[in-house]
Amino acid sequence: MTEVVRVDAARPNHEDISRAAECLRRGGLVAFPTETVYGLGVHALDRAAVRRLFQAKGRPANDPLIVHVSSFAQVAPLVVALPEQAALLAARFWPGPLTLVMRRAPSVPLEVTAGLETVAVRVPAHPVARALLLAAALPVAAPSANLFSRPSPTRAAHVLDDLDGRIDMVVDGGPTQGGVESTVLDLTVDPPAVLRPGAISVEMLRTVIPAVRLGVVRATADGRAAIASPGLLSKHYAPRAPITIYQGEPAAVRPALLAAAREAVAAGLRVGVLATTEDMPMLSQVPVVIAELGSEYDVEAIAARLYAALRELDAAQVDLILARDVSQDAGLWRAVRDRLHRAAARVTAID
Ligand code: AMP
Ligand code: MG
Repeated sequence: MTEVVRVDAARPNHEDISRAAECLRRGGLVAFPTETVYGLGVHALDRAAVRRLFQAKGRPANDPLIVHVSSFAQVAPLVVALPEQAALLAARFWPGPLTLVMRRAPSVPLEVTAGLETVAVRVPAHPVARALLLAAALPVAAPSANLFSRPSPTRAAHVLDDLDGRIDMVVDGGPTQGGVESTVLDLTVDPPAVLRPGAISVEMLRTVIPAVRLGVVRATADGRAAIASPGLLSKHYAPRAPITIYQGEPAAVRPALLAAAREAVAAGLRVGVLATTEDMPMLSQVPVVIAELGSEYDVEAIAARLYAALRELDAAQVDLILARDVSQDAGLWRAVRDRLHRAAARVTAID
């Protein structure tokens, strides 16, 4: 049985947090809200517990975990040396949705890092995550609290949909605010490289380290091409129904999407559409299941809603999902576009 503990997101009850912390100390699996998505936490230095976490998620062992700590001071024991860049970035962005990849200290189990000589670390900002990390007084490895390859959970109910009975506890602090996962920045390469775009944009990082670049897959010490970031796995964050993204000028894409929706409905299929508020009038012309993301001028709202919208379409048992592409590729839009494309089965260009 998975125990659900409801807490006030801004001011979590001390006793509830202590119980969740005790569960972590004993090697339990505890899901909790962060400012991005719900994480599934485990004692990062307890190898057996970390293995149980991989089992519970069905996550491949070559997909490393992010270690969460309560403050910058807690990072030093996890790494060989603290790069000066880490201190600068931490001063600016921690607590917050930025993950830093550094060289692993021997005390960090290879189970956590998926065999890599690097470890990813962040200090989350959510009051519940902070309280839990302080109470546990441990480094807590926490991937997103979903079954492998499914959309990340932004509510406790999403965690239970995927993991009820497979984990010990869910600390329910209500819906998360950020929606997309943390930015992952590799500090072991020069210049530092963004392995996964997230809420802290490349543009923001460049205000501290101007040379930061967008990264790609790199090789391990033994020369194999390693998945530098599991966010780079092709199918990720995906709903059950295949998503087709329509790419091109909005004026051409809207009618193309509408025509595709009509055709699929005529063929007897149940069609889901990921829509912006501005798409709504057009969609009233056709019987489709709509998941409204928010205004296309409000990227924060869209980021916060994306995964919940994908899960809603799954729950509505649609056969296929149609979406317009994100045309902007800067700031938070880059992270939204990245997740949408990783979730998608097909991209159709309209000209
Ligand atoms: P999740 O928390 O489920 O979103 O997945 C963990 C994320 O952390 C992935 O996107 C990984 O890229 C990243 N990560 C964890 N450890 C490392 C590492 N040592 N090197 C590169 N990326 C890492
Ligand atoms: Mg994940």
